[in-house]
Amino acid sequence: MKDSNATVSQLGVLKQKLHSTKAALDEMNEDRNAKLQALLQFIGHLSLACKGQSLELDNKLAKLRHNLGTYERIDDVLPDLVDVERLLKGQYHHVMGQLEEGRSSLSKFSRQLQRVDSMPERLKKEVSYFKQELGKPFHTVWDYIPKVEQLVGFYEQLLESQFESESPIAILPKHRQLGHELAQMISNIEFRKDQRDQVLVIKELLASTEIDVEALLEAYQTILSLLLDNIAREKTASQEFLFALNDALSAVREVVSDSYNQSQRSHQLKSQLNRELNAQVDNVGASLVDIDDITELKQQISEQLATIRASLARKEALEQREQALLRKSIETMRKELNDLSSEATTYKERLFEQQKLNMLDTLTQLPNRAAMEERMEQEYRHFQRNKQPLWLAVADIDHFKSINDSFGHTTGDKTLQVIAMALKNSLRDTEFVARYGGEEFVLIIPDVSPKDIEQLLNRVREKIKNIPFKFKNQRITVTVSIGAAQILDGEHIQETFERADAALYKAKHESRDRVIID
Ligand code: GH3
Ligand code: MG
Ligand code: MG
Repeated sequence: MKDSNATVSQLGVLKQKLHSTKAALDEMNEDRNAKLQALLQFIGHLSLACKGQSLELDNKLAKLRHNLGTYERIDDVLPDLVDVERLLKGQYHHVMGQLEEGRSSLSKFSRQLQRVDSMPERLKKEVSYFKQELGKPFHTVWDYIPKVEQLVGFYEQLLESQFESESPIAILPKHRQLGHELAQMISNIEFRKDQRDQVLVIKELLASTEIDVEALLEAYQTILSLLLDNIAREKTASQEFLFALNDALSAVREVVSDSYNQSQRSHQLKSQLNRELNAQVDNVGASLVDIDDITELKQQISEQLATIRASLARKEALEQREQALLRKSIETMRKELNDLSSEATTYKERLFEQQKLNMLDTLTQLPNRAAMEERMEQEYRHFQRNKQPLWLAVADIDHFKSINDSFGHTTGDKTLQVIAMALKNSLRDTEFVARYGGEEFVLIIPDVSPKDIEQLLNRVREKIKNIPFKFKNQRITVTVSIGAAQILDGEHIQETFERADAALYKAKHESRDRVIID
């Protein structure tokens, strides 16, 4: 009895323990469920925050969110999480790579900005600090966006400062060189009268030191279109002449073939008439043989004569018509030839004018380089035949650039014109001077002995030195240096030219304003 009572009480204790254990277990389960729910909620929120990174990740996260309500145990979630985790890791590396790329692009842009010479000092410092800051890595996209905004701000400030300084594109030495080359080219080309005002404006523009890149491009464009227009006109003129020539030739050909046909027909008719006349004369003879009666004879003769006269009249008419046709043909041909020859004369004159203009330098009106080369060839051939002394001299204005720099390009141009005139006037008719280019001139001097050449060239040099130039009320002396060489037997004239040029180089190095004979 005692034992059974003890067992009952032990059972009671156990039941109670079991009861309290169950209660504790229930409590634990509830707590775990609450934690699981909280974790799932957290995952749900996190997945929403990750949205928009990549389509694949978005799909996976949407699926995960959809399944969140169905998970009862944490183990159920794990397989889905493994997939998402893999994608998230990949996405992380991708984003970090992109951020790094972005950082190096920003660095590159800021380096480019630093190269802009015209950037204000203050901005330069800011950009340099910005570049230093870029040395630190970006951790999130949010680090990146303000940097981009800052860089855009620098560009804006730079543009504003460019607009303020009114020099949108810096003019570089190579632009000035291009402008100078265009100016040189223009002076070597002859433009039509109606084009000259436009060309003059461009020349003045090119001479100014303030020309900007846009104006330079416009100048090139204008000159090109003027040249194209000239080429088109020249082509049309040649075509017109060829058409006229063609018309005239076909008219002449028609007249010639008409008169040939006509004369063929006339020839046949005349032969026929001649045959008739001969037959009639024969007839007279034959009919007279058998006639004894004088009256009948008279009758016969006058009949025969009438026939012959009629034939002769037809022959004469034929000849007259032939003559008239011939006169007409000759007249037509003469007219055609006259028209053609006047057309040819105009064309020849134009060609000649053009040729002459092509040989003249427009600024100084001296023969140009092409004309000089032609003359050099001519003198060379002459020298090869008669071996008379022949000199080449190259004259170059000293420090001419400083005239342009101090008094402007237009004054420089006028100086060139005056010096060119002085050179021309100091030479004889048999001597020759050309503007070789820029501020260089070439003299071709035949028939002067070696002992006289130095004196002659020094006279030329002195003459230029004594020109009373006055720029901006300042008396300026302009000098030239001259190098000369005599053509040697067996030497090509080009080699003589090179020796003269080398002598000029020497003169420049021996402090200028002098003549050096090779
Ligand atoms: P150097 O004594 O060594 O010859 O010095 P330089 O200044 O005369 O020679 P440089 O070759 O340095 O410069 C020549 C200058 O001539 C530069 C160029 O602008 C100028 N020039 C060339 N053609 C023309 C032109 O048609 N008109 C004007 N105004 N200047 C010209
Ligand atoms: Mg020179
Ligand atoms: Mg010079």
